This record gives sequence, structure tokens and C-alpha cells, in this order.
Amino acid sequence: VTPSADVLVVGAGPAGRALAGACARAGLRTTLVDPAPHRPFAATYGCWTAELPAWLPDGVVAARAVGRAIGRESHDLGWEYAVLDVPALRAHLDEGLDDVEVVTGRVAALGADRGVSTRGPGSSVRLTTGAELLASVVVDAAGRAQPLAAAGGRRSAGTASEHPEPPVESSADRFAASSARRVAAEQTAFGIVVPAEAAAPLVAPGEALFMDWRPDHGEPGWPTFLYGIPLGGGMVLLEETSLARRPGLPVPVLRRRLHARLARYGIVPADDAGTETVRFPVDRPRHHTGGVLGFGAAAPFVHPASGFSIATSLRLAEPVATALAARLPRGPGAALAAAREVVWSRPARAVDRFRRIGLEAMLRMPPDEVPGFFDVFFALPERDRWAYLTGRNDLRGTTRTMMALFSASDPRLRRRLVLPAILPPARAAVTVPGDRA
Ligand SMILES: Cc1cc2nc3c(=O)[nH]c(=O)nc-3n(C[C@H](O)[C@H](O)[C@H](O)COP(=O)(O)OP(=O)(O)OC[C@H]3O[C@@H](n4cnc5c(N)ncnc54)[C@H](O)[C@@H]3O)c2cc1C
Repeated sequence: VTPSADVLVVGAGPAGRALAGACARAGLRTTLVDPAPHRPFAATYGCWTAELPAWLPDGVVAARAVGRAIGRESHDLGWEYAVLDVPALRAHLDEGLDDVEVVTGRVAALGADRGVSTRGPGSSVRLTTGAELLASVVVDAAGRAQPLAAAGGRRSAGTASEHPEPPVESSADRFAASSARRVAAEQTAFGIVVPAEAAAPLVAPGEALFMDWRPDHGEPGWPTFLYGIPLGGGMVLLEETSLARRPGLPVPVLRRRLHARLARYGIVPADDAGTETVRFPVDRPRHHTGGVLGFGAAAPFVHPASGFSIATSLRLAEPVATALAARLPRGPGAALAAAREVVWSRPARAVDRFRRIGLEAMLRMPPDEVPGFFDVFFALPERDRWAYLTGRNDLRGTTRTMMALFSASDPRLRRRLVLPAILPPARAAVTVPGDRA
């Protein structure tokens, strides 16, 4: 069987589009498949400015602001936040798809031809219509759905090939797998768009509020924070956010808390104010299917301490495409192995493990201790905070930050930080009155 494409990217979100475009630029015959490939992006995307790749034009940034965070006290983050102009980002990514074959279809599973070898046909995927698409390399960039994740395919360790994909099984995988069998930990949020002058008591002009953990919503129960970012055009998005809860805190609770918080500051949103609802998992297991590369939120690139993944997807698109193009002449297995090494190098896997332990610590932390914990974190030196929040390959920096956090903590907080490394993942949260919709 002759593969119809060098690379088949499943999912045309920001990650899949960026990667498909980069693959085409690298000279690879590329197909992109999505059930609704022309549907506009719906979310408001933001990230730290310094994480954006150099190839993105300035025009995709709608607003820039100095980052601030509040536990019980206020902290300058020391770096800038960029709110993306989502239609401009989309237009830019779409310009890169001129040489990409775009297919409308929903991928159901891996197809029959899924052997990975230097001589074989690569992998195929089956659409819900029963049609099959073949490619040397298949990428699952379908976000949280992960339609080609392990349940539907083989794990990559043990793949027979002249260039075997690196084994990715480790204690981190077992940790992630055990959490995968549980209820997902999810970030949920509800936001309202208000004029910048109205938001000023909470988000000062020129600032972005990464987190404000003060319980100004007045409710007991699961801790939530205010996220506030300028959108450009004189408007600000104010979002009540649950960083992570297993399962996610219901959105009606967040809506109620947001209105209470805003009322406390005399902010009355217009009846027709724009709103945004957020719900996505932050503890999806690492993508392990043999013959498939997980990319974007499907990989998953989602940082559990922020929920961010978009900057990582945009940054890694070109290196992954370059690795695929360089190694494909030696066969699909070699190409996949090289791409996997870009995405999940050994340090990246170790950092992922630490981040998941950090998530479990958050999930177990008593609500009234959460704002104080963030004061300790945000008081760390800038390079430590930056390493933890952005350095997905920076094992040394992540370890240094965790040690610094430990040193700065009191004995009780130390126990809370260390125990999740040896305990099983946190159980589903008990719903208390403040968490009820
Ligand atoms: C409201 C909201 C706000 C957010 N804000 C931010 C932010 O500010 N910064 C940030 O970094 N992250 C943010 N996130 C997280 C966000 O999920 C990711 O950053 C981003 O959308 C992930 O991009 P992606 O391309 O990996 O996946 P997605 O955007 O989820 O795209 C997946 C694509 O795969 C397609 N697909 C699904 N199943 C299949 C299938 N079976 N076959 C084929 N195609 C399929 C879908 O149609 C979709 O087009 C936000 C999320 C939400 C919901």
C-alpha cells in the first residue's frame, strides 16, 4: 500500500494547523483532517509573550500587558502576557495551509495498516464513514478527544522497527495512567467581557491578572481565582477560574461567584456582555500509541499549573516538522522517533512527572491554604517561577524551583508538597455547599 501522504494531522485546532503548515513548508506531503475544518476558533487564547515563536507576526497579538498575581498579597510577575487576536492567528495559520490537503471527516480509530517499519506503509486511520486515510506518519492533534490514544492502538514501547520509537513507559506513565482511570481533573471557568474602565478596580490599565486568589466571591468551598486580561479595543475579560478540580467545578458555581466578586467591586456587566465558558482536562495521560505522535492538547502539552498549551504547540510545530522531514527518508519509524524526541525528550518526561505531582498537591490542598501557597510561589525568584511555568525541557530549573519552594515553605506546606509524590492520585473531590450549582 502506498501512503497517500507523508504526514496526516488529525485535528485542525491551533496545534494541528500550525503543525500541518510547518510540515508542508518542510516539503512534506501533508493532509489535515477535522470534522469541521473551517469552523472558527472559539476561545480567547493568551500566553506569555516570550513563549511565542519568532515566526508569528506581531499582528496576531491583540494586547500585551504586564503580568500580576495575587495570593493574599500582590506580586509583579516580571514578564509580559500576550492576548492573541484569534481571527488574526487563524488567518495566519490558514495562509500556511495552501499546500496542505484539507479533508472533512472525523477519525474513529487507527486503521488496519498500522505497522511502523522502514519499508512498510506507515499508519492508516479510519474515519467514522469507514473510509481510510494512509500516511507515513500520523499525528493526533485532536485535543482532549485524543481519538488515537492508547485505547484505540498499541503502546509505542516495543514497536518493531529498525528505528524503534524511544520507550516512553516509566513510573510517570504509570502515574498518569492511574490518574487516567479516575475522573479527569479539569480546569473550568466562566468569564464576562467588560469595558476596561469598569474592570479597573480589579485589572489596572496595562496589566494582566494571571491569578487573584482573594476569596472576594464570598463563598466557602473549592478555591477559585479571578483571571483578568485585556482583549484590546478597550475591553477586558474577567474570568472566575477553578485551576483544577477532579471533576471540574460546575460552571454555574463559577458564574455565581464571578457575579458576586464583580458586585463587590461595583462592576455591573451589560446585559449583552460577551461571555466565555472554559472546560478542559489538565491530566490527560501522555499519548502512547505506536505509530502515532500526540501533539498539542492531545500530547498533552497542557501545563496543569496554568492550563496553557497553545504557545508550546506553536513553538514545537517547526522543530517537529523539521525532525520528521529530516528522518522520513529513513522510514516512518525513524521519523516518528525523531519527532517524539522533540516532543518528549527525557527531561521533558521528567518535568511532566513533576508537574503532575504539583497538580496532585493542588488537588489535595485545603482551600484556605491555597492563597498562601501561591504567595510563597510568586515570591520565588523570577527565574524559578519562569522555569516552572514554561520550561518543559528544563529539568534542572524545575527541580531548582521545587527545592526553592520547599525551602520557603513552612513544615505543613512542605508535607502538602511532598506527599503527592508517594500517594496515589487524589480522589474525586467531595462536594461541599460552596461547590454546589
Ligand atoms: C475557552 C477556552 C479558553 C482557553 N484559553 C487558553 C489560553 O488562553 N491559553 C492556552 O494556552 N490555552 C487555552 N485553552 C486551552 C485550549 O484547549 C488549548 O490551548 C487549545 O485549544 C488546544 O489546541 P489544540 O489544537 O491542541 O486542540 P483543540 O483546540 O481542542 O483542537 C482539536 C481539533 O481536533 C478536532 N477533532 C476532535 N476530535 C476529532 C476526531 N475524532 N477526528 C478529527 N478531528 C477531531 C476538533 O474539531 C478540533 O478542531 C483554552 C481552552 C478553552 C476551552
